[in-house]
Amino acid sequence: MMRAYVALGSNLGDSNQHLLEAIEALAALPDTEMVGRSHIYRTPPWGKLDQPDFLNAVVALETLLEPHDLLDALLNIERTAGRERNGERWGPRTLDLDLLHVAGKTVNSARLTLPHPHLAERAFVLLPLHDVAPELDIPGQGRVAELLRAVDTQGCTLFA
Ligand code: ATP
Ligand code: CA
Ligand code: CA
Repeated sequence: MMRAYVALGSNLGDSNQHLLEAIEALAALPDTEMVGRSHIYRTPPWGKLDQPDFLNAVVALETLLEPHDLLDALLNIERTAGRERNGERWGPRTLDLDLLHVAGKTVNSARLTLPHPHLAERAFVLLPLHDVAPELDIPGQGRVAELLRAVDTQGCTLFA
């Protein structure tokens, strides 16, 4: 079994419902157990500022799925939520699922980078990740609690 951390985000449609359905879908993945779940936070947009606030969460999984198979599963769940890819990065979306980190794995393929390269810059990831794994050490980036202390969490609020 491998421990994996998945970030969830939504700012289109019923975002709370999109996150709750995605959490259910992740818990139902084959050979996978959900072992942790963060609060849901409301956070300002990042990278592209003229769009609605996001809801964000993080879950921890124990899984037998390999990282690329897990990524395929995440993209499938996004499609189920009506995610449309128009080539634009960081734009509004019904559901975004990013694989943040898989214990013991570093990946640099065309489709997958692990750990997620922007993790340390993003309060909207570090706040919920801190709920489930404050002591986690992200290779090359640092401990989650310390990474969180270094980012600006202004505008991020507890939603649920
Ligand atoms: P960001 O990755 O900076 O958060 P984004 O989530 O808006 O941006 P997307 O358009 O959702 O980017 O994804 C583009 C591609 O990123 C995906 O098709 C996937 O192949 C690739 N990717 C690379 N590494 C990861 C990862 N760790 N988790 C999820 N997708 C990844
Ligand atoms: Ca993302
Ligand atoms: Ca993504």
